[in-house]
Amino acid sequence: MTATTAWSRRCAPTSPGKWTSSARSSATATRSSARGEASGRRPLPPPFTGEGRGGGGATLPLIQPTLRRLGGAVLDALLPPHCLTCDSPVEQQGTLCAACFRGLHFLTPPFCACCGVPFLHAGQAGPGGLCPSCLERRPAFTAARAAFRYDEGAKRLLLPFKHADRTDLAGAIAAQMARAAPEMLARADLLAPVPLHWRRLVSRRYNQAALLAGALARQARKPWLPDALRRTRPTPSLGERGAAERAVLVEGAFAVRQGARPAIAGRRVLLVDDVMTSGATAEACAAALLGAGAAAVEVLAAARVPDPRLEASRT
Ligand SMILES: [Zn+2]
Ligand SMILES: [Zn+2]
Repeated sequence: MTATTAWSRRCAPTSPGKWTSSARSSATATRSSARGEASGRRPLPPPFTGEGRGGGGATLPLIQPTLRRLGGAVLDALLPPHCLTCDSPVEQQGTLCAACFRGLHFLTPPFCACCGVPFLHAGQAGPGGLCPSCLERRPAFTAARAAFRYDEGAKRLLLPFKHADRTDLAGAIAAQMARAAPEMLARADLLAPVPLHWRRLVSRRYNQAALLAGALARQARKPWLPDALRRTRPTPSLGERGAAERAVLVEGAFAVRQGARPAIAGRRVLLVDDVMTSGATAEACAAALLGAGAAAVEVLAAARVPDPRLEASRT
Protein backbone atom coordinates (compact mmCIF):
# COMPACT_ATOMS: atom_id res chain seq x y z
CA MET A 1 0.00 0.00 0.00
CA THR A 2 1.48 3.32 -0.97
CA ALA A 3 1.49 6.31 1.33
CA THR A 4 -0.87 8.06 -1.04
CA THR A 5 -3.28 5.15 -0.87
CA ALA A 6 -3.11 5.23 2.90
CA TRP A 7 -3.84 8.92 2.89
CA SER A 8 -6.77 8.42 0.51
CA ARG A 9 -8.19 5.76 2.79
CA ARG A 10 -7.81 7.94 5.83
CA CYS A 11 -9.66 10.70 4.03
CA ALA A 12 -12.09 8.58 2.06
CA PRO A 13 -14.95 11.11 1.90
CA THR A 14 -12.77 13.73 0.27
CA SER A 15 -11.30 14.07 -3.16
CA PRO A 16 -7.55 13.61 -3.76
CA GLY A 17 -5.41 16.57 -2.97
CA LYS A 18 -7.72 18.00 -0.37
CA TRP A 19 -6.59 18.83 3.11
CA THR A 20 -9.96 19.04 4.67
CA SER A 21 -9.06 19.57 8.31
CA SER A 22 -8.92 23.20 9.25
CA ALA A 23 -9.51 24.06 5.62
CA ARG A 24 -11.74 26.92 6.61
CA SER A 25 -9.41 28.20 9.28
CA SER A 26 -6.47 27.79 6.92
CA ALA A 27 -8.40 29.71 4.32
CA THR A 28 -9.03 32.44 6.82
CA ALA A 29 -5.39 32.44 7.81
CA THR A 30 -4.30 32.54 4.17
CA ARG A 31 -6.56 35.45 3.46
CA SER A 32 -5.43 37.18 6.62
CA SER A 33 -1.84 36.62 5.59
CA ALA A 34 -2.55 37.94 2.12
CA ARG A 35 -3.84 41.08 3.72
CA GLY A 36 -0.86 41.10 6.06
CA GLU A 37 1.46 41.05 3.04
CA ALA A 38 -0.40 44.01 1.64
CA SER A 39 0.25 45.92 4.84
CA GLY A 40 3.88 44.75 4.87
CA ARG A 41 3.66 42.76 8.11
CA ARG A 42 2.11 39.42 8.91
CA PRO A 43 0.46 39.13 12.33
CA LEU A 44 1.29 36.01 14.31
CA PRO A 45 -1.59 33.87 15.53
CA PRO A 46 -2.34 34.35 19.23
CA PRO A 47 -0.86 31.40 21.19
CA PHE A 48 -3.69 30.65 23.59
CA THR A 49 -6.84 31.25 21.58
CA GLY A 50 -9.30 28.50 20.68
CA GLU A 51 -10.40 27.61 17.18
CA GLY A 52 -11.68 31.10 16.49
CA ARG A 53 -15.31 30.22 17.02
CA GLY A 54 -17.75 32.37 18.90
CA GLY A 55 -15.44 35.32 19.22
CA GLY A 56 -18.45 37.59 19.42
CA GLY A 57 -20.04 35.68 22.27
CA ALA A 58 -23.58 34.33 22.06
CA THR A 59 -24.97 37.00 19.77
CA LEU A 60 -26.67 36.15 16.48
CA PRO A 61 -25.88 32.42 16.52
CA LEU A 62 -27.70 31.73 13.23
CA ILE A 63 -26.70 34.82 11.34
CA GLN A 64 -22.99 34.50 12.05
CA PRO A 65 -22.43 31.29 10.01
CA THR A 66 -24.41 32.77 7.14
CA LEU A 67 -22.33 35.92 7.18
CA ARG A 68 -19.20 33.81 7.37
CA ARG A 69 -20.25 31.84 4.28
CA LEU A 70 -21.11 35.01 2.42
CA GLY A 71 -17.82 36.55 3.45
CA GLY A 72 -16.01 33.40 2.28
CA ALA A 73 -17.69 33.56 -1.13
CA VAL A 74 -16.74 37.20 -1.54
CA LEU A 75 -13.15 36.50 -0.53
CA ASP A 76 -12.97 33.51 -2.90
CA ALA A 77 -14.04 35.83 -5.72
CA LEU A 78 -11.43 38.41 -4.74
CA LEU A 79 -8.67 35.91 -3.92
CA PRO A 80 -9.25 32.78 -6.05
CA PRO A 81 -8.22 29.65 -4.13
CA HIS A 82 -4.77 28.38 -4.94
CA CYS A 83 -2.69 25.43 -3.75
CA LEU A 84 -1.04 25.78 -0.35
CA THR A 85 2.42 25.22 -1.83
CA CYS A 86 2.25 26.42 -5.44
CA ASP A 87 0.23 28.78 -7.60
CA SER A 88 -2.01 26.13 -9.16
CA PRO A 89 -5.72 26.84 -8.80
CA VAL A 90 -7.70 24.54 -6.48
CA GLU A 91 -11.37 24.21 -5.75
CA GLN A 92 -11.10 25.07 -2.09
CA GLN A 93 -8.80 27.36 -0.18
CA GLY A 94 -6.42 25.60 2.21
CA THR A 95 -5.93 22.54 0.00
CA LEU A 96 -3.13 21.09 -2.11
CA CYS A 97 -3.20 20.62 -5.87
CA ALA A 98 -2.92 17.03 -7.13
CA ALA A 99 0.76 17.39 -8.08
CA CYS A 100 1.85 18.76 -4.69
CA PHE A 101 -0.26 16.16 -2.92
CA ARG A 102 1.43 13.34 -4.84
CA GLY A 103 4.80 14.76 -3.81
CA LEU A 104 4.11 14.19 -0.11
CA HIS A 105 4.96 10.79 1.34
CA PHE A 106 2.97 10.03 4.45
CA LEU A 107 4.81 7.78 6.86
CA THR A 108 3.10 4.44 7.29
CA PRO A 109 4.49 1.17 8.71
CA PRO A 110 6.99 -0.35 8.63
CA PHE A 111 8.92 1.97 10.88
CA CYS A 112 10.87 1.66 14.14
CA ALA A 113 8.57 0.86 17.04
CA CYS A 114 10.41 3.40 19.16
CA CYS A 115 11.82 6.31 17.18
CA GLY A 116 9.55 5.94 14.14
CA VAL A 117 12.37 6.03 11.58
CA PRO A 118 11.01 4.55 8.34
CA PHE A 119 12.09 1.10 7.19
CA LEU A 120 12.31 0.20 3.52
CA HIS A 121 10.76 -3.17 4.37
CA ALA A 122 9.68 -5.02 7.49
CA GLY A 123 12.85 -7.14 7.37
CA GLN A 124 14.88 -4.13 8.53
CA ALA A 125 13.21 -4.24 11.94
CA GLY A 126 15.33 -5.80 14.65
CA PRO A 127 14.12 -7.45 17.87
CA GLY A 128 11.07 -5.66 19.25
CA GLY A 129 10.58 -3.90 15.92
CA LEU A 130 13.50 -1.56 16.67
CA CYS A 131 15.96 0.17 14.35
CA PRO A 132 19.75 -0.23 14.82
CA SER A 133 20.04 3.08 16.71
CA CYS A 134 17.34 2.19 19.23
CA LEU A 135 18.77 -1.30 19.63
CA GLU A 136 22.15 0.21 20.39
CA ARG A 137 20.72 2.63 22.91
CA ARG A 138 17.10 3.38 23.71
CA PRO A 139 16.39 7.11 23.57
CA ALA A 140 15.18 9.11 26.55
CA PHE A 141 11.81 9.64 24.88
CA THR A 142 9.37 6.75 24.86
CA ALA A 143 8.42 6.96 21.20
CA ALA A 144 8.50 9.33 18.22
CA ARG A 145 6.28 9.62 15.15
CA ALA A 146 6.03 11.94 12.16
CA ALA A 147 3.48 12.71 9.49
CA PHE A 148 5.72 12.82 6.40
CA ARG A 149 8.97 11.53 5.11
CA TYR A 150 11.32 14.53 4.83
CA ASP A 151 11.94 14.69 1.09
CA GLU A 152 11.51 17.20 -1.71
CA GLY A 153 7.72 17.12 -1.42
CA ALA A 154 7.80 17.78 2.32
CA LYS A 155 10.34 20.57 1.83
CA ARG A 156 7.94 22.38 -0.48
CA LEU A 157 5.58 22.54 2.46
CA LEU A 158 7.91 22.91 5.42
CA LEU A 159 10.63 25.27 4.20
CA PRO A 160 8.21 28.13 3.41
CA PHE A 161 6.55 27.46 6.77
CA LYS A 162 9.88 27.61 8.58
CA HIS A 163 11.75 30.29 6.70
CA ALA A 164 9.33 32.35 4.61
CA ASP A 165 6.68 33.52 7.05
CA ARG A 166 4.08 31.04 5.80
CA THR A 167 2.70 30.71 9.31
CA ASP A 168 -0.74 30.12 7.80
CA LEU A 169 0.40 26.56 6.99
CA ALA A 170 0.57 25.56 10.68
CA GLY A 171 -3.03 24.39 10.97
CA ALA A 172 -2.91 22.20 7.86
CA ILE A 173 0.43 20.61 8.83
CA ALA A 174 -0.72 20.05 12.42
CA ALA A 175 -3.84 18.30 11.16
CA GLN A 176 -1.65 15.74 9.36
CA MET A 177 0.49 15.29 12.47
CA ALA A 178 -2.64 14.61 14.50
CA ARG A 179 -3.73 11.98 11.97
CA ALA A 180 -0.31 10.34 12.11
CA ALA A 181 -0.35 9.79 15.88
CA PRO A 182 -3.83 10.13 17.40
CA GLU A 183 -2.92 7.79 20.24
CA MET A 184 0.03 9.96 21.23
CA LEU A 185 -2.15 13.04 21.37
CA ALA A 186 -4.79 11.17 23.34
CA ARG A 187 -2.40 10.10 26.10
CA ALA A 188 -0.48 13.39 26.33
CA ASP A 189 -1.14 15.55 29.36
CA LEU A 190 0.42 18.58 27.75
CA LEU A 191 2.28 19.64 24.62
CA ALA A 192 5.58 21.51 24.47
CA PRO A 193 7.53 22.67 21.41
CA VAL A 194 11.25 22.35 20.76
CA PRO A 195 12.47 25.91 21.48
CA LEU A 196 14.57 28.24 19.38
CA HIS A 197 17.43 30.13 20.92
CA TRP A 198 16.22 33.66 21.63
CA ARG A 199 18.56 35.16 19.05
CA ARG A 200 17.11 32.98 16.32
CA LEU A 201 13.61 33.70 17.56
CA VAL A 202 14.28 37.43 17.25
CA SER A 203 15.57 37.07 13.69
CA ARG A 204 12.82 34.66 12.55
CA ARG A 205 10.06 36.30 14.60
CA TYR A 206 8.32 33.00 15.29
CA ASN A 207 9.11 29.47 16.43
CA GLN A 208 7.67 27.10 13.84
CA ALA A 209 7.55 24.23 16.35
CA ALA A 210 5.52 26.39 18.74
CA LEU A 211 3.03 27.23 15.98
CA LEU A 212 2.58 23.49 15.34
CA ALA A 213 2.27 22.71 19.05
CA GLY A 214 -0.34 25.42 19.48
CA ALA A 215 -2.36 24.25 16.48
CA LEU A 216 -2.17 20.63 17.69
CA ALA A 217 -3.20 21.63 21.20
CA ARG A 218 -6.21 23.50 19.88
CA GLN A 219 -7.22 20.64 17.60
CA ALA A 220 -6.81 18.03 20.34
CA ARG A 221 -8.08 20.32 23.11
CA LYS A 222 -4.97 19.74 25.19
CA PRO A 223 -2.99 22.22 27.26
CA TRP A 224 0.36 23.37 25.94
CA LEU A 225 3.31 25.30 27.25
CA PRO A 226 4.93 27.32 24.46
CA ASP A 227 7.93 28.21 26.62
CA ALA A 228 8.32 25.09 28.75
CA LEU A 229 11.82 24.59 27.37
CA ARG A 230 14.54 27.07 26.56
CA ARG A 231 17.85 26.77 24.77
CA THR A 232 20.67 27.43 27.20
CA ARG A 233 23.09 28.19 24.38
CA PRO A 234 22.87 28.69 20.63
CA THR A 235 23.67 25.57 18.63
CA PRO A 236 25.15 25.69 15.14
CA SER A 237 23.10 24.49 12.20
CA LEU A 238 23.12 20.71 12.40
CA GLY A 239 22.78 20.46 8.60
CA GLU A 240 24.60 17.47 7.22
CA ARG A 241 26.30 16.51 10.47
CA GLY A 242 26.20 12.90 11.55
CA ALA A 243 24.18 11.52 14.44
CA ALA A 244 27.12 11.36 16.89
CA GLU A 245 28.20 14.94 16.18
CA ARG A 246 24.61 16.17 16.49
CA ALA A 247 24.28 14.52 19.88
CA VAL A 248 27.41 16.22 21.18
CA LEU A 249 26.32 19.64 19.87
CA VAL A 250 22.90 19.60 21.51
CA GLU A 251 23.67 17.73 24.72
CA GLY A 252 22.71 19.93 27.64
CA ALA A 253 21.59 22.72 25.29
CA PHE A 254 18.03 22.65 26.65
CA ALA A 255 16.58 23.35 30.07
CA VAL A 256 13.11 23.48 31.52
CA ARG A 257 12.08 26.98 32.46
CA GLN A 258 11.85 27.24 36.23
CA GLY A 259 8.25 28.43 36.18
CA ALA A 260 7.18 25.47 34.05
CA ARG A 261 8.43 22.79 36.41
CA PRO A 262 5.21 22.42 38.44
CA ALA A 263 3.19 21.95 35.25
CA ILE A 264 5.60 19.31 33.93
CA ALA A 265 6.19 17.23 37.07
CA GLY A 266 4.37 13.91 36.83
CA ARG A 267 2.89 14.70 33.39
CA ARG A 268 3.16 12.91 30.07
CA VAL A 269 4.65 15.50 27.73
CA LEU A 270 4.31 15.44 23.95
CA LEU A 271 7.30 17.23 22.47
CA VAL A 272 6.53 18.87 19.10
CA ASP A 273 8.98 19.72 16.32
CA ASP A 274 8.82 20.43 12.61
CA VAL A 275 11.58 18.11 11.38
CA MET A 276 13.20 15.22 13.23
CA THR A 277 16.55 14.10 11.85
CA SER A 278 18.73 11.87 14.02
CA GLY A 279 16.61 12.48 17.10
CA ALA A 280 19.47 14.20 18.94
CA THR A 281 17.48 17.38 19.59
CA ALA A 282 14.45 15.40 20.74
CA GLU A 283 16.73 13.34 22.97
CA ALA A 284 18.25 16.43 24.61
CA CYS A 285 14.81 18.01 25.12
CA ALA A 286 13.40 14.78 26.53
CA ALA A 287 16.32 14.49 28.95
CA ALA A 288 15.60 18.01 30.22
CA LEU A 289 11.88 17.32 30.60
CA LEU A 290 12.46 14.03 32.40
CA GLY A 291 15.02 15.74 34.62
CA ALA A 292 12.27 18.19 35.59
CA GLY A 293 10.06 15.30 36.64
CA ALA A 294 8.00 14.55 33.51
CA ALA A 295 6.40 11.11 33.76
CA ALA A 296 7.22 10.36 30.11
CA VAL A 297 8.08 12.18 26.90
CA GLU A 298 6.88 11.30 23.41
CA VAL A 299 7.77 13.15 20.24
CA LEU A 300 5.61 14.19 17.31
CA ALA A 301 7.21 15.84 14.28
CA ALA A 302 5.80 17.03 10.99
CA ALA A 303 8.50 15.23 9.00
CA ARG A 304 11.15 12.60 9.59
CA VAL A 305 14.50 12.36 7.84
CA PRO A 306 15.20 8.71 6.98
CA ASP A 307 18.27 7.02 8.47
CA PRO A 308 20.87 6.92 5.68
CA ARG A 309 22.13 3.55 6.97
CA LEU A 310 18.70 2.06 6.34
CA GLU A 311 18.31 3.83 3.00
CA ALA A 312 21.70 2.54 1.86
CA SER A 313 20.24 -0.94 1.59
CA ARG A 314 17.66 0.28 -0.93
CA THR A 315 17.92 -2.03 -3.93
ZN1 LIG B 1 0.45 22.68 -5.77
ZN1 LIG C 1 14.50 3.60 16.30
